[in-house]
Amino acid sequence: MEEMEFESMINAIANGENQSKDLIFNFVEKVTSGSINEPRIIKWLKTMHRFGCSDDDVVHLTTAMRMSGATLEWNEGKPVVDKHSTGGVGDKMSIMLAPALAACGVRVPMLAGRSLGHTGGTIDKLESIPHFSCDLSPEDMIRIVEEIGCCIVAQNPSIAPADGRLYALRDVTNTIDNIQLITASILSKKSAEGLDALVLDVKYGSAAFMKTVDDATALARSMVAVGNGTGIKTIAQITQMDDPIGSHIGNSLEILESIEVLHGRGHQDTIDLVVLQGGALLHLTNMADTEEKGRDMIRSVLNNGKARDVFLSMCIAQGVPQHIAKQLLSNPTSILPMSKLKTQFCAKNSGYISNFLTREIAEQLRRMGAGRLHLENIIDPTIGIIIENHVASKISIGDPVFTLHHSSPLTNEEQTFFATCFEIQPEPITPLPRLHMTIT
Ligand code: URA
Repeated sequence: MEEMEFESMINAIANGENQSKDLIFNFVEKVTSGSINEPRIIKWLKTMHRFGCSDDDVVHLTTAMRMSGATLEWNEGKPVVDKHSTGGVGDKMSIMLAPALAACGVRVPMLAGRSLGHTGGTIDKLESIPHFSCDLSPEDMIRIVEEIGCCIVAQNPSIAPADGRLYALRDVTNTIDNIQLITASILSKKSAEGLDALVLDVKYGSAAFMKTVDDATALARSMVAVGNGTGIKTIAQITQMDDPIGSHIGNSLEILESIEVLHGRGHQDTIDLVVLQGGALLHLTNMADTEEKGRDMIRSVLNNGKARDVFLSMCIAQGVPQHIAKQLLSNPTSILPMSKLKTQFCAKNSGYISNFLTREIAEQLRRMGAGRLHLENIIDPTIGIIIENHVASKISIGDPVFTLHHSSPLTNEEQTFFATCFEIQPEPITPLPRLHMTIT
């Protein structure tokens, strides 16, 4: 790329004009092949971070990043769908959503991530199932999805490698938090899956990356515009992330809760989010006339065992021996790693639970081994909590609030933190609904 061409991109960004589509493609090609020097990439990132750019530019950037690596090509047939969440605490939706959608007749080639910051990752959760492999080639993903309807696979370097290079540089140049760069990063990987439809769960609140509804909405609008601009029917659901989702937090424990839901039981909060996301995707792909009918379809496959059967097939297809996969469903705690120690924390006064310090709990669990502080850390899948009484529950002195699963005796600081990480107030409270609004 000539100096003049590069500078014309920089000037266009700084002047609020569109960059040339050809130059964006050329730039991303050079980023991928390593034939552009780092100072230039950093200059471009910093200019983008400072000034932002138009949705058209992000569509070209996303497309160029998608084309930098492998893409999944599908035969004519059932719609191909996925979901992306910006990350939460207790966010285990994908584990139930992928098999439920497959049971409703769509194809779900899900690419998922590992834990990031204080939020858990679907891949780490699934890897607490003995033998479950999330490392599949694009060819294996296609084969398994055609056979059983879904798979859940770790983001791998063959998909959108330009994003890998740009993300690593964003990380060390403080240019992560820019809506356009986040949009292109996420959607380049999602669009490499060859999707017809995508639902985005964009979270706001004290335990989300986007703290305010306004920030979450701005990110959602950008992703919806660019998703649709790249030919994927995309909607975003802006959801509340102040309270932990469902009853279980922690890698192995979230698999346990997911299996409960796949048996037609489980926590209503978890069921509601899966149903919300699945219903939207079934409607977007015309598998259901309305979102409400889509939600009914998801509810029925969760209740009639069809989603559970697909989950069983997915476990077997992704490496779990059949007898272990069956036992996982019939007696999950005999297969999943469980903590040696459990400590129950109870109410010290009567009233209504008004608040969990959700982010602080997640950060504490992360320090105890449920997440990573450094890339090379190995996760302890057994660490987590099971909530016995959620926000808004009426509670009396001595009633259990949650049980901590841990691997070593608690320090005084840990004991004090967990005893005070929730609040009880005398008046009844109405919890905020999960869904704040939908962006289409
Ligand atoms: N997740 C991604 O994949 N990319 C971002 O930029 C942010 C979150």
